[in-house]
Amino acid sequence: MRLFDLHCDTVTTCIKNSQHLAKNTLHLDLERGARYEAWGQVFALFVPDTLQGEAAWQYYKQALQFYRQELAAAPNVHPVLAVENGTLLCGQPERVAELAADGVRILTLTWNGQNALGFGAACDPAPGLTPAGRESVRMCWRHGILPDVSHLNEAGVWEVDALCAAAKAAGQDARYIASHSCCAALHPHRRNLSDAQCRALFAAGGLLGLNLYPEFLGGAGDAADVARHLEHLLALGGAKHTALGSDFDGCTLHESLAGIEKMTALRDFLEADGCTPNPEDFFFVNACNFLGNML
Ligand SMILES: [Zn+2]
Repeated sequence: MRLFDLHCDTVTTCIKNSQHLAKNTLHLDLERGARYEAWGQVFALFVPDTLQGEAAWQYYKQALQFYRQELAAAPNVHPVLAVENGTLLCGQPERVAELAADGVRILTLTWNGQNALGFGAACDPAPGLTPAGRESVRMCWRHGILPDVSHLNEAGVWEVDALCAAAKAAGQDARYIASHSCCAALHPHRRNLSDAQCRALFAAGGLLGLNLYPEFLGGAGDAADVARHLEHLLALGGAKHTALGSDFDGCTLHESLAGIEKMTALRDFLEADGCTPNPEDFFFVNACNFLGNML
């Protein structure tokens, strides 16, 4: 089986728990990932909302150093570097250029709270992005970084979509993603996307990573709930725009899905369930096509 996952918090969780990427007791390590024939993994460096200004930037730099050390000899994974929470930019969009030089390919603009770029999902009702947030999104496209709308509030998601349309109209190669979210139509939650937002993301050529977190999936948060969301996303036109966005080590998962080694069983379930004609698209092909040029 081939696997490409759009979101995990394993790096910063390792730092917090004094563990290592090579082998650990968390949801994901390099040893367990090596069982896959091909493995692409987005590693998010999660910066908490409690860190603002230079403290956030310094924390990011430390996490980056750990990430580089831990992945220096890891031939079995194709890593993609992400930063979760634009608070680290200190409201200075020009710092996006340094992120790009560091190898960052995805920037989740906010976490659930407010930062200098905009308002997160916990802030509604609120405006979306700040002027620095809008400029940071444009800078992302200029520097080959994908803005990630997971965690943004309602208005912010629509603003990124409008900025994307404007950039495309100006001839730029602009795309955005929602790296780890689910469908609000199936389970209303501030972190989930409405059908209109999913359709807009797909129409913009974007990619949605389906989160495995039970609080976003609803129900027990097991494979049957993943199947429900996936089927819904396919009905919205997301067959080529939906991937796995596990949220490994960023949340508590249903026991049957709590580990990278359990994705084989999830795939078997989705295949037997018939919710998708092509599980390979969801688990690997769509993300690989989308991010392949960033590996
Ligand atoms: Zn997150």
